[in-house]
Amino acid sequence: MTIHTIGTHPVAIGKNPERSRDHNRRVVLDVVRRHGSLGRAHIAKLTRLTPQAVANIVDELASEGLLMEMGRLRSGRGQPPVQFAVNPEGGATIGVEIATDHMVTVALDLSGKLRARRIVSLRDATPEHILPAFADELSTVSRSVGAKLLGTGVVMPGPFGIDGMTSVGPTTLPGWAGLDAAQSLSEACGHTVLIENDATAAAVGERLFGAGLAISNFGMIYFGVGIGLGIIQDGAPYRGAFGNAGEIGHVTVVPKGKPCPSCGQLGCLEGYASVYVLKEKLSCAGLPDCGFSDIEKLHAERHPVIEEWIDEAATYLGPMVAMLENILDPQTVILGGALPDAVIGDIIGRMGNLPTSVASRRQRDLPRVLRGQTGQLTAALGAAALPLFDVVTPKLETSHAVLADIPT
Ligand SMILES: [Zn+2]
Repeated sequence: MTIHTIGTHPVAIGKNPERSRDHNRRVVLDVVRRHGSLGRAHIAKLTRLTPQAVANIVDELASEGLLMEMGRLRSGRGQPPVQFAVNPEGGATIGVEIATDHMVTVALDLSGKLRARRIVSLRDATPEHILPAFADELSTVSRSVGAKLLGTGVVMPGPFGIDGMTSVGPTTLPGWAGLDAAQSLSEACGHTVLIENDATAAAVGERLFGAGLAISNFGMIYFGVGIGLGIIQDGAPYRGAFGNAGEIGHVTVVPKGKPCPSCGQLGCLEGYASVYVLKEKLSCAGLPDCGFSDIEKLHAERHPVIEEWIDEAATYLGPMVAMLENILDPQTVILGGALPDAVIGDIIGRMGNLPTSVASRRQRDLPRVLRGQTGQLTAALGAAALPLFDVVTPKLETSHAVLADIPT
């Protein structure tokens, strides 16, 4: 798939052969979603599909309730074109964020509008407790939305399936090591569940609804309980061979530094720049169990513990940004997640002059670091965006290399 930039919108170009119909449906939905509403001729021009192919796809999407007619646009001479927009009532997706101490469930309609949101706290994040709670939340939310359910995405902290990294530690879920989480969750609710690590889902959320809307190549540094990186490459998430790409929390930033709370190595980024560490510092200062709004309030009061943590996080994140730029060559790096906007803004501000990297160009369209726009619900929104992403956006075609057995 080729990504072309038309105006500020990167646009995926359609393919004319009929066998690419599924791809072309996504291309049409994507271009309509990005522009709000469009006529058939305009869609054909932007996607480079033939007018006949566009007419067929638009009819099909409209009959399925995914696109809706918006009337005619008044223009110059001749019959004004009928406009089409994504039909918000065409379906809904549900996103669930399972964290160590809470579960967030959201529902989005096809236009990406938030239709429902529930947060429950968890006393116990083991599978025995989570699986029935997950099924309950899902049925409550889907009943309240009413629209056809197009899919469910779940976000859990990674990494997945790594010996010695998943089984212990305050930033991972207890008791899930060795369990096929996607299968267990699908069985619990009775339909297929897409599962993703929190940082990748957050990047998908920003790509569909937030700061990444017009950006097709970016890295998203995501504050969950720990810290991770989501990567969007040519408009689609980059996951790596085992779904663990972007595990920057366990990159050593201080050789022989302090023991990492999750993996036990010394000097991991997560041991300095994570919400877990911030809460630990607050707890040591006599402020246990601080939540999102407590942190927001303490930050507004310029509490010294928060100030000190922001300084430390910025100190380690600045060089990390430069390293990511050198490795990924992104258009920008987005910083976001489970922290108040003002705190994330301060971290970006205190990174100061970033180290020189391949991104140190004089002519840049975007700053090197941007604050995410999807806020506290980022991970759950990202989870709900996973099935939506599969419905509305063109996918890269994947080819699987086959390694032949080499006779020895
Ligand atoms: Zn670590």
